[in-house]
Order: sequence, then C-alpha cells, then structure tokens
Amino acid sequence: MGKRARSEQLFARAQALMPGGVNSPARAFGAVGGQPVVLQRGDGPYVWDVDGNRYIDYVASWGPLILGHRHPAVLEALEAVLRAGTTFGAPTLWENELAELVVQAVPSIEMVRFVNSGTEASMSAIRLARGYTGRSKIVKFAGCYHGHVDALLVQAGSSATTLGVPSSPGVPPGCTSDTLLLPYNDPEALETAFSRHGDQIAAVIVEPVAGNMGVVPGSEPFLHAARELTRQHGALLIFDEVITGFRVAYGGAQQRLGIEPDLTVLGKIVGGGLPVGAFGGPRRIMRAMLPEGKVFQAGTLSGNPLAMAAGAATLRVLRDSNPYPALERATERLCAALSAAAQEAGVEHTIQRVGSMFTLFFHRGPVVDYRTALESDTNRFARYFWRMLEEGVYLPCSQFEANFVSVVHTDEVIDATIQAARRAFQMLAA
Ligand code: PMP
Repeated sequence: MGKRARSEQLFARAQALMPGGVNSPARAFGAVGGQPVVLQRGDGPYVWDVDGNRYIDYVASWGPLILGHRHPAVLEALEAVLRAGTTFGAPTLWENELAELVVQAVPSIEMVRFVNSGTEASMSAIRLARGYTGRSKIVKFAGCYHGHVDALLVQAGSSATTLGVPSSPGVPPGCTSDTLLLPYNDPEALETAFSRHGDQIAAVIVEPVAGNMGVVPGSEPFLHAARELTRQHGALLIFDEVITGFRVAYGGAQQRLGIEPDLTVLGKIVGGGLPVGAFGGPRRIMRAMLPEGKVFQAGTLSGNPLAMAAGAATLRVLRDSNPYPALERATERLCAALSAAAQEAGVEHTIQRVGSMFTLFFHRGPVVDYRTALESDTNRFARYFWRMLEEGVYLPCSQFEANFVSVVHTDEVIDATIQAARRAFQMLAA
C-alpha cells in the first residue's frame, strides 16, 4: 500500500463522477502532472489527507483562511447561527453585521451587496458599471483573473494560465467583443486605449496586486494611470480585491496604495471560509442596483446567514487583533530564507511578495506581467512542488498561484517549511 493509497482510490472514483474528478480545475494538480491528495481535515496551519498524512498548508483554500483552519471564533459563530436556521431568503440581522464591517474596513465602500462567489461579484460589478455609465467596453489585463465571467475570460491567469487556455470554448466571440485586453503594468498601453475608445469604456477592472499569474504587484505609475484615466474619461475603476481584500491590509490593497477605486470586488476572506462574494462602492453608484435603481442582480442564497456569520467572525478577529504587521514579518522572514536556500543551491529564482501573499518564480529576473510570468520554468516548479509535498508542505499546485501565510503559521511551522525547502532546492540542484 502506497503512502497515498486511499487518496488514489477516492480520486479514481471521483474521476468517474465529476469531470477531471474535481469541481474546479486548478485543484486537479494537472499543472504539476499527477493526482491530487484528497483532504479530510484541517486544523490551524495543517491539513490532513484521507491517508492520515499531515501537511503544512500554504493554499489556505486559495486565500480565504487567513485565520487558519477551524478558527474557534469562526466555529462558534457558525454553531450559534446553525441553531437559528440555515437560510431564509429574507433580510436578516447577520447581513447587516457583515455589511457594517465591510463598510468600516474598506475606504471606498459606502454600500455593499453580497453574492455567493468572487465570479458573481465581478460579473455583477461589470454589469453595474455598464448600467451606470451607459457604455459597453471593459478593459481587462492579461494574466488577471476575475472569475469565470464570459466577458472576462480572455488571457485570464489562474487555471486558464496553468492549462494554457487563452479563452474557453463556449464563450461566443460576441461575449468578449467589448473586452479590451491590455498588458499589465503598462500605463502607456492604457493611455492609448483611452485615447482611442475613451468615450465607450464603462470600466477598467484590475487586480491591484495580481495573484493569478503568481504574485505580481501593480506598479504605482500603472495603478495611478488607471485611476486618472478612468476619472478623466468618465469610466469606473474596479479593483478586484477578491484575494487582496483583508489580506494585504485590513482595508485591502486600496488602503495600502492610497488609491480609491469606484467599485471594489471582494470574495474569499470576506466569507471566512464559506461561499461569499461582494461588491461595493459609493452610494451614488450602488443605488443604480435594483430595487433602488434598474440594474438587475439577484440570488436565492445571497446574504446566507451561515456565510455572513463566518465572514463577520473573521473580520472581527482581524479588526480587533490587527495581525498584519506580524503576518508581514513572518512572510518576509519565510521569503528571505527560501531565497537564501535557493541561492545556496544555485537555483535561479525570484520571490515576489506583498504582505502575506507570495510566489517563488523559477525565473531569473522580476516578473512584471503575464509575458514574463510565462517565461518561468514550470518543470522545475513541478519537481519542487512534489518534493515539498513529500516533505509535508502543501503548496498551490501551479507556478502561477499565490502562496498564503496565515496567523497560525508560527515561527516553528515556518522553520519546518524552510528546512523542507532547503532539501528540495538541493534536490533540484543535484
Ligand atoms: N477574482 C480574483 C482576483 C480571484 O483570485 C478569483 C478566484 N481565485 C475570483 C475573482 C473568482 O472568485 P471565485 O472563485 O470565488 O468565483
């Protein structure tokens, strides 16, 4: 019996039941060539697979679990709501609580609407921007992922990058004909697009720190150009903070950068590990939504009590404990040590980090956009990934993803990760 026999057995069955054995492609380990481990339990910084192997977790469910697995405050909140019911499809007190927290946290948000995923949130924000401005064109950047929204599924990073699918069958050309695709971190390209199409552009949507081509920070000139050009031409600036919201600062990347977008898209941490997305902005724009305005958007389970409670419990812990300086220090120390270990072994690499999100690129120089990201040595990444898994460290299974450090990654856990990485780099060099 192999070390992961039960995982293999269950995944074989899953492949007969669900396409690729999964409900979201990135988690299938396709980018690293192999079968995923089937997980069954998490606690703090650790996850366990169905064979009982323990791993240090840097996936954090792809970002939501900034407090780690099974945080007591989140569990308590969920247990309390569970006794009252699971869904009502009506106004409840729990949605007020999470809305208050979001409005207080994010500088540019005066009103918010909750949905069930980041995809829904960016789809709805785009519709609102088009409805509000009466324009059709949307600017998106290569390598940025905003969920599987038809109009935004063009060079979209994430598993679309990983699998080398620039778009997708099933997305008719009409759906993307109003999408202007531009390179990330290129203010001149943005200026040219506005000089040609300025009066037709409804919105520019951008990840202020890209997380879906690996971590690539948006440069200040680029993000300031996006802010200024949208303002000059009457378009809206949408920050997709599904990853960065409550991650790189309590108020998100916009707080860190001092740039106020018109609309903000949220997901992941805002739901505390349950399915939540949100979009928000100033009252004058948000009031264009039905039932106050005319832009349609709806959801049977939107504002779900359990999801609202998990999100609110998470945000309260973040607000009251302000873990951001400590997260920053811990992640900085981890990245410095990983880099030193790679260098010692003579492994070419670049580590890019913002707050507690980072990517170790097997790439010689800085990664500034989608094109440079794709120059990374993905074969080397795959070998590193598998060795780290053998060492008991669960990393995102693609070069083009962000690693997340959470408040439960203690010095000891990080030291163990560094030791494992040292052995992995030696193996790569050998
Ligand atoms: N935007 C960004 C920046 C994301 O990283 C993601 C998902 N990783 C999404 C949107 C879509 O969110 P969801 O998977 O919840 O639909």
